[in-house]
Amino acid sequence: MTENTKDSRELRRESTFDRCDQAWHDRAYAFSEGYRRFLDLSRTERECVASFAKMAVEHGFVEYAAGESPSDAPGYLFVSRGKAVALYRPGRRPAAEGVNVVISHVDSPRLDLKVNPLYEEQSVGLLKTHYYGGIRKHQWLSRPLALHGVIVKQDGTEIDLRLGSAPDDPVFVVSDLLPHLAHKVQNTKKVNEFYPGEKLNLICGLIPVDDQEAKNRIKAAVLEYLHQTYGIVEEDFVSAEIEAVPAAGSRDVGFDRAVLGAYGQDDRVCAYTGVRALLEAESLERGALAVAVDKEEIGSAGATGAQSAFLENVLAEVLALEGVESELALRRLNVHSSALSADVCPAIHPDWAEVHEKNNAARLGHGLVLVKYTGARGKAGANDADAEYLARLRRLLNEADVPWQTGSLGKIDEGGGGTVAKFLAAHGMNVIDAGPPLLGMHSPFELVAKADVYATYLGYKAFFETF
Ligand code: MN
Ligand code: MN
Repeated sequence: MTENTKDSRELRRESTFDRCDQAWHDRAYAFSEGYRRFLDLSRTERECVASFAKMAVEHGFVEYAAGESPSDAPGYLFVSRGKAVALYRPGRRPAAEGVNVVISHVDSPRLDLKVNPLYEEQSVGLLKTHYYGGIRKHQWLSRPLALHGVIVKQDGTEIDLRLGSAPDDPVFVVSDLLPHLAHKVQNTKKVNEFYPGEKLNLICGLIPVDDQEAKNRIKAAVLEYLHQTYGIVEEDFVSAEIEAVPAAGSRDVGFDRAVLGAYGQDDRVCAYTGVRALLEAESLERGALAVAVDKEEIGSAGATGAQSAFLENVLAEVLALEGVESELALRRLNVHSSALSADVCPAIHPDWAEVHEKNNAARLGHGLVLVKYTGARGKAGANDADAEYLARLRRLLNEADVPWQTGSLGKIDEGGGGTVAKFLAAHGMNVIDAGPPLLGMHSPFELVAKADVYATYLGYKAFFETF
């Protein structure tokens, strides 16, 4: 079933449907059910981190506390601000000799509520939003959205908000203009300009308070509802992080149900498969680290992003667990470590093949994708993984019989983008982008092949076990 290039001198390009037997696909479908449950429960970076923490604790992991954690725990959990997480399992060899890292991100494009969101206009109550990440604005119009997030009152009390994703919940919506009146104000404009960001506001109420003398009667009624339901006042929005995300859950797509459609698969598909691979890896020669960071979609900035000290601090604590506390040892650990920048890549679009280069594009259902470089305008901003590293990785995947393919971020000069890979590479780590291909990336309903989710899990697991 494997033996790449044994019978042919040409690169093997085969779908998992031709290559893998029914038993393999049965396992892939079963795996995707767990993934679907995770996705439906985890609509924000905070909810993802909470899900992973729960999974880790169920596997006996302990939350790491400097100087207090036992050095013989099966694994350790590191959480930063509820929005970035790392799971570490020691290997047989000391961490100082290098570890294997699978790093993904759990933030996804969405509409964030502004700090002062609530107002009324033309007898309608509304919430102002500020979009987060690379959204195509038209995809978020006239679509049911849920509000998920946290509100922290000034006494420190935290209120978890999840409204809109349960079947009987109300939803929130940015209502698009009717076609009859869109000719001049929308249809003459470019698609990325026709709906200004300041008009991405959510309808949130209609019924005014009884007092006909009062000002802003609808806003007052919404505030009254919020106070009665959550005990909050308007100022509490100042210390809140509330995200408008698609209200709909995951669905099977197509007659054969081979594709899973859901919001937020960039990059929760890699985060979930990375964590499952870490928890289920059977034998570890080297220490294994599954990391899921935040803020990738806005440049990996902030204290929970890949450019922060989070990963470095975790690696330093991992060394400390083994009694090593030197800066030089940390630098050596970085250089001797190997990483997969676990992120999705575009699948070739059947109706828009012209933006891809078909010889180098990834295909749905063809397995885990290795992306040597991303970037734009002549690889600018790319990590561009070493040939030596790719050689070791393809050998690993071939020997473990994991379906894999190569991919790229579209035709030259068509566009471009990047991942967290370069931030790890800057510390001297071997790193390459590896994840499943997606269609409709960054849309409210991204598509993944279940077979690719499973291949990704198998690839990450093999990486932890034998790389
Ligand atoms: Mn991504
Ligand atoms: Mn993305």
